[in-house]
Amino acid sequence: MQNKIWLSSPHMGGSEQRYVNEAFYANWVAPLGPNVDGFEKDLESFLNADVKVAALSAGTAALHLALIECGVAYGDEVICQSMTFSASANPIAYCGATPVFIDSEKDTWNMCPTALQEAVEDRISKGKKPKAIIVVHLYGMPAKMDEITAIANKYGITVIEDAAEALGSTYKGKACGTFGRFGILSFNGNKIITTSGGGALVCHTQEDKDKAVFLSTQARDNAPHYQHSHIGYNYRMSNIVAGIGRGQMEVLPSRVEARRKMHDFYVEVFKDIDGVDVFTEPSSDFYSNHWLSAITVNPEITGKTREDLRLAFLEDNIESRPLWKPMHLQPVFANAPYYGTNIAEKLFDDGLCLPSGSNLTDEERERIASKIKEVFSK
Ligand SMILES: *Cc1c(COP(=O)(O)O)cnc(C)c1O
Repeated sequence: MQNKIWLSSPHMGGSEQRYVNEAFYANWVAPLGPNVDGFEKDLESFLNADVKVAALSAGTAALHLALIECGVAYGDEVICQSMTFSASANPIAYCGATPVFIDSEKDTWNMCPTALQEAVEDRISKGKKPKAIIVVHLYGMPAKMDEITAIANKYGITVIEDAAEALGSTYKGKACGTFGRFGILSFNGNKIITTSGGGALVCHTQEDKDKAVFLSTQARDNAPHYQHSHIGYNYRMSNIVAGIGRGQMEVLPSRVEARRKMHDFYVEVFKDIDGVDVFTEPSSDFYSNHWLSAITVNPEITGKTREDLRLAFLEDNIESRPLWKPMHLQPVFANAPYYGTNIAEKLFDDGLCLPSGSNLTDEERERIASKIKEVFSK
């Protein structure tokens, strides 16, 4: 069997180990220390907006804290993009709130502003104004933030951006993760940069950040003994993994460049194959980090399905994966309200994510390209 080609695997830059070693030498082996502070600063300057970042144990934890800071509580409703990873929606349930799922639009595969408008009006007419809107930048593709922000502002609903997949992406020149009251980032092993596991909450005020740090470190009141007036969480990032993050920040721009080159590679491979569309920015307002390159396969034109390609890849030890299965189709969320038509569902039926790592070799790209040509020439 040939070497496995992964969808997206960790890609160290070289200086990660040095930051980790520094933490050991100084005995900062704790969920605080110079790497945590340094990593937060690095992220703040990369995002290039007036933001305050809190480094946390996971992107999921960041979303949970964002919801708590937005006042989401038992019995509330929170709007969420349906086509996403379950971690976008699970924290709504942690709060005892109900997710209201929204369909995608065809340009960016993200939250459809028309369905969002319909949902907000309908929920309000039923006497339940949603507490927040969670919009996702899927596979690094920025959502239609102007339209979504306009609706949120019109009805006075807070926006939380799930930018877990979109570090390095911009919309109209502004970094994804900096549009909403809160943005969340993930540094899980498969993301564009990784700390092995970790996340961050992007805030716009020191107060919001301080509150996130307070809640993430067990909500200790200011007293010599352990005194608590709030329910706390153990969500702070470790100084060891933050060291990996600092090393990764040094190479983030080159990782974005490499992922975007993978997208260009697929555009080239598929250019003569009718009925396969490579997921691409709808206009120059959108700049995707192309965390994952993805395609949709039209079975009527190609005579093939995305499963034909996925299984052919699998035979050759090449990993690929269907797009996220929409949350409104997941058994666990079967009872949640849903607004839209069948756009997300159709994307799930026809879409496939392709190997997109920044560390793939020319030889591996050759293996991928020849498999694709073999499948679609039959
Ligand atoms: C990875 C991911 C998350 C969760 O981040 P973790 O750091 O793994 O908790 C949330 N939302 C989306 C869209 C993701 O891809």
